[in-house]
Amino acid sequence: MKKQCVLVSGGAGYIGSHTTVELIEAGYDVVIVDNLSNSEIGAVESVRRITGVDIPFEQVDCCDREAFRKVFEKYEFDSVIHFAASKAVGESVQKPLLYYGNNLTSFMNVVGLMHEFGRQNVVFSSSCTVYGEPDKQPVTEQTPRKPATSPYGNTKQTCEDILRDTLKAYPEMKGIALRYFNPIGAHPSAQIGELPRGVPQNLVPYVTQTAAGLRECLSIFGDDYPTPDGSCIRDYIDVTDLAKAHVAAIGRMVGDKNKENYEIFNIGTGRGVSVLELVNKFEEVNGVKVNHKIAPRREGDIIAIWADPSLANNELGWKAERTLDETLKSAWEWEKHLRGIK
Ligand code: UDP
Repeated sequence: MKKQCVLVSGGAGYIGSHTTVELIEAGYDVVIVDNLSNSEIGAVESVRRITGVDIPFEQVDCCDREAFRKVFEKYEFDSVIHFAASKAVGESVQKPLLYYGNNLTSFMNVVGLMHEFGRQNVVFSSSCTVYGEPDKQPVTEQTPRKPATSPYGNTKQTCEDILRDTLKAYPEMKGIALRYFNPIGAHPSAQIGELPRGVPQNLVPYVTQTAAGLRECLSIFGDDYPTPDGSCIRDYIDVTDLAKAHVAAIGRMVGDKNKENYEIFNIGTGRGVSVLELVNKFEEVNGVKVNHKIAPRREGDIIAIWADPSLANNELGWKAERTLDETLKSAWEWEKHLRGIK
């Protein structure tokens, strides 16, 4: 039987590179498309090294419809996983037109070209940001979406709506939106991981860079929230586990196991962890010190959110497997690899 091929847009990025490894290990062929605007070609080379496969790579911006069309003409993939997007919440507030332009245009091109070329299955990278500050924990897929608080969040909601409406109009196509909680950690090989440019905005890269001595002190944004220790609560999901959820989503559509042609799944662990717990755990499992201080709340942060992942567990046959200890160790191994720390 011919191998199924998946186009991974944003395959040089953090989640895209990990997903490419898992797809290859599950027996798929992959084509990577990335404009390298926020990623390095080195990640593609590392993925090739880990898998032993010379994965085709096209440096193309998904917003450039004509260039992207050539990729559709050149390769016979049946499915697309669309990661390529701008992802910094704060930056999106400063540069809304950049975010609406990039994130909406690239996704419209993905679904538009898929329809034009008769390609069937699409996975969209959504986010728990669509729930805003939820009234009840944990959140299920039925939990109402709240109005987005940033252009970034708005692009996630709008792309979900674009997908829903498109799949209603074109019932021969199928799509799955995966709502990620907080992806952290790195591949067990320590050859790929998160590669923030400049000062990290996310918690774990800031923690690892502080432990490595690149940053002086981690600021914990708020210790006066109505939570047990006063810091915010999130559902931290291992990036390799998250990558496997994409393989399960593709397998569901390819194997015709989907119940509707548009489905949504929460991808989280079901476990809420506070910022202080996470930092303490990181120090404990890695035997390193993370200099930190309590700082004022960060504008726009929600207090607490964690997933009810039972729909993904039952329907996708996917479950988060790595423990928080393992994930935090992998994050540190990756930082040490980057900095040449023994
Ligand atoms: N956070 C923090 N210090 C930092 C970065 C993040 O205390 O330098 C906190 C942030 O306030 C939030 C949690 O860590 O409660 C996760 O933040 P992140 O930016 O990683 O993800 P978000 O949940 O905002 O998407």
